[in-house]
Amino acid sequence: MKDFIQYIIRFLLGDDIPGEYITAIGYTADPRLYNKYSIVIHPSGFFDSHLYGKPSSIPTLPLKLIDDIPLLFGEAKEEMIGDTLVLRADLVASTYFLITRYEEMIRRDMRDEHGRFPGKQSLPYKAGFLHRPVVEEYGLYLRNKLRQLGLQLHEEKPGIRQIYLTHDVDAPFYCRSWRNVIREIKNGENIITALKIKNGNLESDPFYTFPKLFAENEKLVTALGKDRCKVICFFKAGGNSVQDKPVYKLIGKDIKNLFALCDQFQVEIGLHSSYQAGNNPELIVKEKKKLESAIKKEIKLNRHHFLSFREPEHTAFLQKAGIFEDFTLGYADVAGFRLGTCRSVRWINPATRKLTSFLLHPLTIMECSLSEKKYMGLSYEEALAYCLGLINQTATHKGDLVLLWHNTAFAEHKADYLNKLYTDLIKKLMNE
Ligand SMILES: [Zn+2]
Repeated sequence: MKDFIQYIIRFLLGDDIPGEYITAIGYTADPRLYNKYSIVIHPSGFFDSHLYGKPSSIPTLPLKLIDDIPLLFGEAKEEMIGDTLVLRADLVASTYFLITRYEEMIRRDMRDEHGRFPGKQSLPYKAGFLHRPVVEEYGLYLRNKLRQLGLQLHEEKPGIRQIYLTHDVDAPFYCRSWRNVIREIKNGENIITALKIKNGNLESDPFYTFPKLFAENEKLVTALGKDRCKVICFFKAGGNSVQDKPVYKLIGKDIKNLFALCDQFQVEIGLHSSYQAGNNPELIVKEKKKLESAIKKEIKLNRHHFLSFREPEHTAFLQKAGIFEDFTLGYADVAGFRLGTCRSVRWINPATRKLTSFLLHPLTIMECSLSEKKYMGLSYEEALAYCLGLINQTATHKGDLVLLWHNTAFAEHKADYLNKLYTDLIKKLMNE
């Protein structure tokens, strides 16, 4: 069996399932091999060379269902052949399709104005299951089948395994340099106010919300423990696109204060790859080195600015740069489970079908996806209900929750509800 297939079966069954159960499941169309396994998943033909990589391999709607779970490939049929249960539902291909971003590779012409694959054009959104981690539902289905065959499996208690509170530092300060003051004057703002912010305490800068934000995070870290709740700040270190503005320096008193605050709260620092690097991923190496020399630590984590992780194969550039984990993969226009899973998953390159050790952490919720008119445009009540739904799903399946709140969204003067929503979610999560 190919290693990526073995990995998918292992991933479906979960980390806590003993190894012998993994080998009890086969993925073969050859009836002579059926008796080697307790369960055989019959391949639907998705990986066959005449179909794989072709537009015709994308499932058409409406999808079939197995126990109310949307099935991407195969049939909702099963039969006992000898002592082996043969499933015609191709859970391997269905999982592969979701965790590899296969759809995005096939539909290269489908991109938004920033070159990103739009969530609302995705199969999970169109089929109405983006808010469900269906890969975990496949896993539960498969474990239940093993139980039906008399194998003893215990189901773990529900609860979120790991929470990542993350902040993309697009603009750490509002007005702390002469360049900022000139911008304010050009924009017709009051020069006295601008100078006051520039020369005043760092804490009085409206974008420097980190002390408040970290104090809020600390409540959850204390409640759940450092092992279960981690805080990460992603810093930019380059980029010449308009979307990369404002450019901030990684040297100077203010940023040093911010790095020291991160140290004090044990906040991990990751690279916020620039918008430009999203288009030219070879720039990631340079940006990573620049950030490393500023903080004098090795960088292992990444998230792309604008979530502009444009092509699935670009992951290889992160690997080449010596980055091991990424936190980009949610859709900007709609929150949910972009990879079909709420657990971190090893990247399989859909172009080569190679399994790698690179870890993708699905992004569950980015705050502006909820509030912005052009994205979901939800009211506070709707956003809270939607977030609680995703949190519930994640807890049910022992998944990881990744929240992204920008420091600027936490500014007090902001008229929207994102500041309040964050504190409400933290409160709710303290009981998880
Ligand atoms: Zn950003």
